[in-house]
Amino acid sequence: TGTLYLVPTPIGNLGDMTFRALDILKAVDLIAAEDTRHTQQLLNHFEIKQCLVSLHEHNYEQRVPQLIADLQKGLDVAQCSDAGMPSISDPGKELVAAATQAGIPVVALPGPNAGLTALIASGLVPQPFTFYGFLERKHQQQVTALLKLKQRPETLIFYEAPHRLKKTLQSMVEAFGEERRVVLARELTKRYEEYLRGTLGEALAWAETETVRGEFVVLVAGNDHPDKAPTARGAADPIQQINAEV
Ligand code: SAM
Repeated sequence: TGTLYLVPTPIGNLGDMTFRALDILKAVDLIAAEDTRHTQQLLNHFEIKQCLVSLHEHNYEQRVPQLIADLQKGLDVAQCSDAGMPSISDPGKELVAAATQAGIPVVALPGPNAGLTALIASGLVPQPFTFYGFLERKHQQQVTALLKLKQRPETLIFYEAPHRLKKTLQSMVEAFGEERRVVLARELTKRYEEYLRGTLGEALAWAETETVRGEFVVLVAGNDHPDKAPTARGAADPIQQINAEV
């Protein structure tokens, strides 16, 4: 059989394309791309001639079996999305699941990813973290999902489209309160890259006055001050409990 290569692509800065990603894109028999026009531009930039097929949320049911058949015939396939890591809030997971089930080797290349890039520069606790990706779109569903995360002590990472940022921050204020720390990582790796750090209340006030433009990762600090009583908190923490007994 062939091999399925998962190939990350830049999230804004073409200089972030890795040598190995270029080598694999040149070497494979076929590239399965989220948007063939988008990936064609990337290939043009690096002067790579390749055969492209599309693989996205509207055609994966037909496309995945075709690609598995190609792999079983011995063709090597690279899969990539428009930006960053395939399968991370992007197409790919169904192909990977089918390939692993069929015993086809799957090789992931390391490379650009917006969430981890934002996390390590955010100044928030880098681990543990929860990567959530895109929230539900409807306000009440957002608030319900966020309330489930409210007590979590780890840093929370979300993706959001610029035109929905304000509403999402409103849901976050509703679920977590105005005082929770947040970092908005904007336009990573691009000319207008910036980090906006403050409370959720401040971030919402900013989004209400500014025209929100660009791509954003929203990182929310974990819950430092659980609403639980100190005794209950101690009981939930085995280390504290052991110390208390000594
Ligand atoms: N597969 C990508 C990855 O590995 O990060 C994510 C793709 S997802 C469809 C697009 C979302 O990722 C955007 O709405 C934004 O939240 C985030 N994103 C992608 N590129 C970004 C960038 N350059 N700066 C900030 N956020 C970015």
